[in-house]
Amino acid sequence: MSVLTSSLLAGLNREHVWLEHGFGTRDALLNQDAMASLKQIHSNVSLAADRPGSAGEGDALVTRDAGLAVSVRTADCYPILLADPETHAVAAIHAGWRGTAAGVVRSTLARMQNEFGTDPQNVYAAIGPGIGHCCYGVGVEVARQFGMDRAGTLDLAVENRNQLIAAGLNPERIERVGGCTFCNPVQFFSWRRDHDPAGRMISFIRATAAR
Ligand SMILES: [Zn+2]
Repeated sequence: MSVLTSSLLAGLNREHVWLEHGFGTRDALLNQDAMASLKQIHSNVSLAADRPGSAGEGDALVTRDAGLAVSVRTADCYPILLADPETHAVAAIHAGWRGTAAGVVRSTLARMQNEFGTDPQNVYAAIGPGIGHCCYGVGVEVARQFGMDRAGTLDLAVENRNQLIAAGLNPERIERVGGCTFCNPVQFFSWRRDHDPAGRMISFIRATAAR
């Protein structure tokens, strides 16, 4: 088992190599020390990073600094990685139900647009492993945030995919990587299943060369 990657994002290196990324797994744990990171608060706050270490409180990091990796920690919440081949801007997003309901994907794309001139039509996205529709029962309070009128199951991968498309991404430039964290105890940590505060997987993305 190893770090998971998106064939779509990897394909952006076809003409020249400029992008690295990965979704860490249970037995392929990545280290955040040399990466920009966040104190995650389940919000829609996105921050621009210009150095390794904590950039502050929020749930998405964007950068156009070549060499700097932006990263998030997850275990059921979804890690989402974005790359803009036109500007070499990248983003790492932490999206649980609160962040998804608050539109963290939308606010991240807006920040990339404001800071770097990113056009969402140029952006590629990879949605990593998270708790699937199969295992994510929610009560009526959470269900209401997503337009349902009673308790049921929630598909955060689809919710975030729809938000990416609504923000202007081409559906063909969005890839789902890995499966349900709850269903796959060998491969993934799951907060809902394990209640293990130490069990978090690191996902990252980095431009290795400036545009
Ligand atoms: Zn499942």
